[in-house]
Amino acid sequence: MSDRLVDTDSVGEDGDESSLRPLTLDAFIGQQQARANLRVFIEASRGRGDALDHVLFAGPPGLGKTTLAQIVARELGVNFRATSGPVIAKAGDLAALLTNLEDRDVLFIDEIHRLNPAVEEILYPAMEDFQLDLIIGEGPAARSVRIDLAQFTLVGATTRSGLLTTPLRDRFGIPVRLNFYTEDELLEIVFRGARVLGVSILEEGAREIARRSRGTPRVAGRLLRRVRDFAAVAGTAIIDQIAADQALGRLEVDSRGLDALDHRYLSCIALNFGGGPVGVETIAASLSEPRDAIEEIIEPYLIQQGFVNRTPRGRLLTQHAFAHLGMATPAGFAHVQTELFSDKDDD
Ligand code: ADP
Repeated sequence: MSDRLVDTDSVGEDGDESSLRPLTLDAFIGQQQARANLRVFIEASRGRGDALDHVLFAGPPGLGKTTLAQIVARELGVNFRATSGPVIAKAGDLAALLTNLEDRDVLFIDEIHRLNPAVEEILYPAMEDFQLDLIIGEGPAARSVRIDLAQFTLVGATTRSGLLTTPLRDRFGIPVRLNFYTEDELLEIVFRGARVLGVSILEEGAREIARRSRGTPRVAGRLLRRVRDFAAVAGTAIIDQIAADQALGRLEVDSRGLDALDHRYLSCIALNFGGGPVGVETIAASLSEPRDAIEEIIEPYLIQQGFVNRTPRGRLLTQHAFAHLGMATPAGFAHVQTELFSDKDDD
């Protein structure tokens, strides 16, 4: 998966992703409601001189959770410290991070749903009372110490808010859900990226990239860089719609922004399982991809675009998906769909 072009994982072949990050709420494009609310809460907390309440950003990868966390710290005028759930192995690691915070600082924990439960446990009193309860030593000599912490703001990010434990989720006063971006918002993001990277692009070229970016700013940034590379090698000075379309075609990104892996996923369900319903574990085994990656990276966009549904008995393709794959819908399939269609998740 790591070399997937529309992979929404942040560790890519381009180390310069940070150059495309907007630095202020005003420069951040889209997510109108989230931004408006954050602006109010930030202003109120600055006015009171208190730490901002803890914030949880939830949504698929690449939608701007890390960027917004950095912006929050910047707008508050405080330090920003970042870590990630799987990196904090022991309670002591978290204690070291927490005791180094100053009043009103932002501690950002990415992938917070992957925190080890023992670590999560000590986070509760830290978030609620700004206190740390640590056990020092082992056996009969063990004793518990209580440490007062600075009044900090925890900003958590998760691609799977459903996997967060209820006590943790309840401790975030400001939950913010990020949604896929519209084509017009992505168009603005592509233009902005082109300005930062010094790329000449016509609106029709930028729109082609925007339309095929899976609703995701990180993908838009990556596609823009790759299209720029193709244009540079072909000697194209200004990227128009044809140049963008040709480059995206060579990158195997189709007219709806689906890439080779999306096609493998859809074709697997269509060809091997008659369109479903099929359980996500079976799909994962069949594609040799981790289940997490399927649920976090591939499926959210395909579900949002109406290519696949989650039903109580597994994933089910829509007729729309068969049409997009250029396949005939199997006989009797419409019947399966009506019978099974439900918004309920199967896991
Ligand atoms: P996440 O943490 O949700 O995975 P990031 O915050 O790392 O996503 O964003 C991924 C990339 O997309 C970054 O390069 C960032 O600059 C860009 N980006 C995200 N949201 C926006 C936005 N609203 N406007 C412009 N660029 C954005």
